[in-house]
Amino acid sequence: MRNGKRRTIVVAGGAGFLGSHLCDVLMSDGSQVVCLDSFLTGRRENLRHLERDPRFALIEADVTEPLPAGLAGGSLRPDAVINLACAASPPHYQADPEHTLLTCVLGTRNLLRLAEASGARFLLASTSEIYGDPEVHPQTESYWGNVNPTGPRACYDEGKRAAETLSFDYLRAGRVDVRVARIFNTYGPRMRADDGRVVSNVITQALAGKDITVYGDGGQTRSFCYVDDLVDGLARLAALDTPVPGAINLGNPAELQVAELVERVRMITGSRSAVVRRPLPVDDPRRRRPDIALARRLLGWSPRVPLEAGLRSTVAWFEEDLRRSTAIRVR
Ligand code: NAD
Ligand code: UDP
Repeated sequence: MRNGKRRTIVVAGGAGFLGSHLCDVLMSDGSQVVCLDSFLTGRRENLRHLERDPRFALIEADVTEPLPAGLAGGSLRPDAVINLACAASPPHYQADPEHTLLTCVLGTRNLLRLAEASGARFLLASTSEIYGDPEVHPQTESYWGNVNPTGPRACYDEGKRAAETLSFDYLRAGRVDVRVARIFNTYGPRMRADDGRVVSNVITQALAGKDITVYGDGGQTRSFCYVDDLVDGLARLAALDTPVPGAINLGNPAELQVAELVERVRMITGSRSAVVRRPLPVDDPRRRRPDIALARRLLGWSPRVPLEAGLRSTVAWFEEDLRRSTAIRVR
């Protein structure tokens, strides 16, 4: 709700981990939300609690295809279009690399055109992966990155880079008011147990008493942001009325090694799981940490949830999730 007017916001990828939390925040702000999702990696359960709300609509659609009538050139004229549609975990986005690349490029084009036709603002969920294996540390928005354009991660990294390119071309041409968030590793409730990312893997392995898999020597670093903080940053960026000069990093600058993350999770869960080494995936970045000075200045945003509290809440959610899925299997 802004200036007494109810906003309509299209959230592509709204059934996923980040998207479903963003739908919650936008709805609680009084907005009307139209979620577009193909359910490639997203889940209906993530949105079950919103389904009966008349301010919420869910449309099953693949953003690489022409958007459903009623949206494109139709009666619905959104105030904002937010594009989170894209598998985000390496095993998922590498399962069909061609579709991942097309989701980034064609999906962004289709949604930019929807924004243009409606005079809506457009927000792209980009990624820290556009920095590749960074030579600049921490990563500032002015760094152009170090991405292998032909490796197994390229469908995602280069896809998001091209999506940024297209978005800024629309902005420069005065066609759409564009915002780009470069999101760093985010974790929290509603991640999938089979997601393949490190936080969900380690927690589910620890809870199940299975071996915990560390890829490489565990000395590589990441900076993990709790989901509530991250979607707060996205919502602020989407609502900001002043022009934004370029992409903005959103993430938690608290950097730690993968091996340290594993120890934290073992402590919190009291797990006695063994830690086993697996080969480091090709092109796995050695380190990653956001410089968030721009987000602090423009959005007045910085993460509030410390890793310990965020991990405890995520562990509690996975415990409940595992209980639910076991109960379903037993029945
Ligand atoms: P997710 O896999 O949980 O969510 C992605 C959603 O997009 C899913 O609901 C999926 O079904 C949907 N989707 C995928 N391809 C689609 C298509 N072609 N058409 C329609 N829907 C499609 O992942 P997430 O972690 O919630 O990530 C959301 C967005 O944020 C992604 O764009 C991702 O690149 C970006 N991001 C996430 C992180 C993170 O740490 N979670 C970090 C950087 C960037
Ligand atoms: N990783 C790991 N064990 C796992 C899954 C991932 O050690 O079971 C490592 C992975 O190699 C990477 C880091 O954890 O160095 C983060 O991986 P994730 O897939 O979560 O995110 P990304 O590599 O895309 O930042």
